[in-house]
Amino acid sequence: MSFITDPERLAPYLVDESSYQGFAEGLARVTTLEEARAALRAAAAAGLSVTFSARRTSVTGAAIPEGGLILALPEGSDPDLVGVDVEAMTLTAPAHVLIADAERAAERAGCFLPLDPTSRDSASVGGAVACNASGARSFGHGPTGAWVEGLVVVLADGSVHTLKRGDHPPRDGVFHLGDHRVPAPKPRRADLKTVQGYALSASHAPDVIDLFIGSEGTLGYIHEVTLRLLPKQPIFAALIFWPTRAALLDFVAQLQRRDPASGLAPMSVEYFDRRSLALAQAAQPRFGVPEGAEAALFIEQRHAPEDEEAVMMAWYEALLDAGVPDDPDYLRVPQSRADLDAFRAFRHAVPEAVNALARGRGFRKLGTDLAYPLGALHEMMAGYDAALADVPGALGAEAALTLETRYGAPPPQTLDAAIFGHIGDNHVHVNLLPRDALEEAAARQLYRVMALGCVAAGGSLSAEHGIGKSKRALLAEALPPAALAELRAIRDALDPQRRLCAGNLLS
Ligand SMILES: Cc1cc2nc3c(=O)[nH]c(=O)nc-3n(C[C@H](O)[C@H](O)[C@H](O)COP(=O)(O)OP(=O)(O)OC[C@H]3O[C@@H](n4cnc5c(N)ncnc54)[C@H](O)[C@@H]3O)c2cc1C
Repeated sequence: MSFITDPERLAPYLVDESSYQGFAEGLARVTTLEEARAALRAAAAAGLSVTFSARRTSVTGAAIPEGGLILALPEGSDPDLVGVDVEAMTLTAPAHVLIADAERAAERAGCFLPLDPTSRDSASVGGAVACNASGARSFGHGPTGAWVEGLVVVLADGSVHTLKRGDHPPRDGVFHLGDHRVPAPKPRRADLKTVQGYALSASHAPDVIDLFIGSEGTLGYIHEVTLRLLPKQPIFAALIFWPTRAALLDFVAQLQRRDPASGLAPMSVEYFDRRSLALAQAAQPRFGVPEGAEAALFIEQRHAPEDEEAVMMAWYEALLDAGVPDDPDYLRVPQSRADLDAFRAFRHAVPEAVNALARGRGFRKLGTDLAYPLGALHEMMAGYDAALADVPGALGAEAALTLETRYGAPPPQTLDAAIFGHIGDNHVHVNLLPRDALEEAAARQLYRVMALGCVAAGGSLSAEHGIGKSKRALLAEALPPAALAELRAIRDALDPQRRLCAGNLLS
């Protein structure tokens, strides 16, 4: 098999949505299972590592090669490539199909696909499985992995395995996959949103399929994906502005207790702080953010058609009880498809406005992907407040002095930051927005301090974006040696030469 080596044709595959820049010896474009096997075998014969490249929306450099061969999936996508089995309530798609196209195919068949990364229009279903992507709807429906029923995978040795959930449980703590014997990892914690290396599902019985979910391409190539579906139902949505953030946090803590008697069973609980609202309002004044609003929530709940009135009343009463003014400026429920589109536009306007500000300033935005365990909501938000209000205090005297020596000025007392995201899962993105080189250096260090603090409090370095290359050093610093050894043992059992997606997760 011959590889493409023309530097111009390789160039688009050496960058992704992270700031990583890669390098590679060659590129193989594959469509069929046979082509993927042939590329993997040829790479093995040539002693080359192989990096799988789907849509390159990873923000951690995961799809960027550090040498070797790029195995690129097809660029085209179409809902017609997706097969929906309405009786089994599943869909099956080639790995390269866009999530949005899988969603469209499900909708056409009267079904609902709960996958919900913001990048659904530009990321692939295989990429979503490889990264165990999630999004706003993970509060109600969990991450991608919770919906994976089957995979067709090709291992580093070129062997093909058709995996169906439930068919390959571990025996005495070991998975048997062809000739490979793989130690079963620990289950993901049910009270923590996390993608931080290999783990068993928190919601299903242990199965070998779990190894590939969130493996970031390090254990095998995913050729085909089968996902479980739900019936399509109406969705109640509301955008709620809060006069105080404290009342909002108490309300979110109440939602996290998931009391069935409350009638509140949201799939999304999204947060926007005052700075995010101000940026979105400046970018698009038509949103009319109320002047007294300290923060906002966006919620969505699926419900049976006959429950529409009851669901709306349950939310209305609960929100008034929680201190939201009975005022349509504060409590907005879409009355039409156009209103709902405006809400969605608002959700997207926030990250876009934050990114535009960072671009305008010419310094890189640093966005966290940390998640705290359930029960730690107030602790998490108080910790972020404290760190942002006293940057030198958070960094510590030694680090502050190092910055002062290097930049000729002490680190700033505070940093500009916008916080938004999946607060229901204790997973908000803290976006640090530096204005100069000193602030950028301080932001980098603050990011590290916040990340290590989160892990020390039982949280995760990565709730949804994965580790990739940008967080592997932090992972090595944050995890105990035994946990790192467990990751290595799993990887070595399936890919002893560590040729697949080399550099992801582990150095
Ligand atoms: C604007 C924006 C918004 C985003 N929002 C979210 C969000 O809400 N939630 C979220 O979780 N993530 C989000 N992301 C991150 C990203 O979209 C996801 O990680 C996504 O799952 C990556 O899919 P991809 O097809 O682009 O994969 P790529 O970026 O091409 O690859 C990502 C990793 O998966 C591996 N991989 C890809 N395909 C395969 C395959 N077929 N077999 C084996 N390994 C494979 C690659 O080798 C790489 O390690 C966002 C990114 C952007 C740019």
